[in-house]
Amino acid sequence: MNLFDELDRCVMCGMCSQHCPTYQLTADENESPRGRIALIAALSTGQITTDATVQTHLEHCTGCRACEAYCPSGVHFGAIMDEARALLPSQPAPSTLSSQTTRWLRIYQRSGLQKITRASGLLKPLGLEQKENLLPHIPDTPNWQGYYPAVPDSKHCGDIALFTGCIANIFDREALDASRRLLNALGYGVHVPTTQGCCGAMARHSGRADEAAALAQQNLDAFSKLDIQAIVHTASGCTAHLSEYSQQLRDGQSFVSKVKDISQFLSGLKWPADLPIAPLHKTVALHTPCSLQNVLRQADAPRHLLQRIPELEIVPLAQNTRCCGGAGQYMLEQADFARQLREQTLDALDNISPTEKTRQKIDTLVTSNLGCALHLAAGLREREEAITVTHPVVLLVRQLKLNKLSHSKLTGY
Ligand code: SF4
Ligand code: SF4
Repeated sequence: MNLFDELDRCVMCGMCSQHCPTYQLTADENESPRGRIALIAALSTGQITTDATVQTHLEHCTGCRACEAYCPSGVHFGAIMDEARALLPSQPAPSTLSSQTTRWLRIYQRSGLQKITRASGLLKPLGLEQKENLLPHIPDTPNWQGYYPAVPDSKHCGDIALFTGCIANIFDREALDASRRLLNALGYGVHVPTTQGCCGAMARHSGRADEAAALAQQNLDAFSKLDIQAIVHTASGCTAHLSEYSQQLRDGQSFVSKVKDISQFLSGLKWPADLPIAPLHKTVALHTPCSLQNVLRQADAPRHLLQRIPELEIVPLAQNTRCCGGAGQYMLEQADFARQLREQTLDALDNISPTEKTRQKIDTLVTSNLGCALHLAAGLREREEAITVTHPVVLLVRQLKLNKLSHSKLTGY
């Protein structure tokens, strides 16, 4: 992408601003997409230099890309911001979880130390309370096999590859496992390439383009030799980034054409009649991540998938077109804005009225992006609300007699 061409495409009409969550919070033009484009244009031509104020306005952008979805001129705001971040002072490397760190965090949770630390009140004066509260339950993460064949008595439909990512491989493990089991039951063999890695979104969105391109190439190499119909993933933020690899890799088009959000792939299939789904007499709230809505353009896929569950009532959140603030590292680095956006999203949960259609108190919030799930679950813990955040595929697989998931308690994030 040529940054100047892309900036020129913007006619400064401002039609995007009303859809921008940071503009909605502040009513400050510098916190709007149009204002940010003006700042980036001035930065890239040397009219201004990067001072702390300019940097703050750019870093406040959640990357939700609502502006892009509503822009009549087709401005690729996400790509502009990725280029602009490379103009900012260098960013620290994103925090990735090593296996050793994960092990210690698991011990912290299971030894009871987490409960003691939280009860002690020590975290607040240390400024760690909010970050520690984001830590979800860390499940066991057994190694993946390279290939899982379709269940023997199913009609073999072909092969699929599962992208497991880095952080998703730990915190979204239940959704990944559920997806793999469901695909096998539907007649698909599932490859899980062991040489795949992080999608590279955090590096790309932090302005480290070379590192992001190297990670994209690693994944391209890991998947390119497989004879597969699709590459599916459970976290829509990472899936959105995978779907744009052709912006970074010249030969990425074949990979990109196969990338699908798991709900998108599953809801487009013809399901066998002998796969009974138990009714669920429940009302769940449905959150739609920005990445699913504004990048993958698959906002309806989770609802279509969940509609397979008899008796289930699905209530979309009123704030579904506005970012919840759980945008990757944003929830840590821009904690104040992230919290304000989350509160608005969770207020929408409170405002779901018990109409004739909703039969009971909502105890489940469904979302398709790991970052949103962790952020919203932390907010619900803080509010002491007994609402579990879960992935649509986990909810669906629990209603199928596939495995122990069907009978286990829904643990959520
Ligand atoms: S990004 Fe699009 S909608 Fe926003 S000001 Fe520019 S042209 Fe208008
Ligand atoms: S990506 Fe989202 S937060 Fe950033 S300018 Fe666009 S609408 Fe605003």
